[in-house]
Amino acid sequence: MERNKALVVFSGGQDSTTCLFWALENFKEVHTITFTYGQRHGIEVEMARKIAEKAGVDFHLTDIAAIASIGRNSLTDSSIEMDQKKPADSFPNTFVPGRNLFFISIAAVYAREKGIYDIVTGVSQTDFSGYPDCRDSFIRSLNVTLNLAMDEQFVIHTPLMWIDKAQTWALADRLGVLELVRKETLTCYNGIPGDGCGHCPACRLRNEGLRKYLEGQGDSSLRSE
Ligand code: ZN
Repeated sequence: MERNKALVVFSGGQDSTTCLFWALENFKEVHTITFTYGQRHGIEVEMARKIAEKAGVDFHLTDIAAIASIGRNSLTDSSIEMDQKKPADSFPNTFVPGRNLFFISIAAVYAREKGIYDIVTGVSQTDFSGYPDCRDSFIRSLNVTLNLAMDEQFVIHTPLMWIDKAQTWALADRLGVLELVRKETLTCYNGIPGDGCGHCPACRLRNEGLRKYLEGQGDSSLRSE
């Protein structure tokens, strides 16, 4: 079996955009799949589409709104106030239960249709914010399950699993897309592209990582005053 095609689970955020360019470096043919699941900010999808276009890769949009209608979380339900940090004894309410389970499972079905057996996802155990479905053990378990479910030999690639946000910026820089990731992706929970609102948990993690990376590079433009 030729393994020169990859499918990237793509949201248009920092992590999956970095993974998209990682995939372009490592595979001859790259496809993306993006999910809508009732996110508060539809702009996310449009940004993802633009990045895919710029990267010259196939963009496939799939709606799985059902996961938001059966599991309550603050990313899809604006009546819930968003946790600003991880509560001591549970997940932040930005956790969408089952999200990566569904995303990657559906991605695998789509990949198989296209003759693709390499799936790339931007999950990271290092900065996992308490989300259990970002951990390596879960991804390995799901990989085995998908292979058993479809009698195939999928490989789920997780280039960011063991690196932190600063190292993710370093990777984007090495791939030549630091500016693109910085300006054209959306990570902010408040739906503000680029450097974002600056105060939601996703912005804090992203901006702190960027500051750390740029400081290591001797660039003081982002240093806090
Ligand atoms: Zn924000």
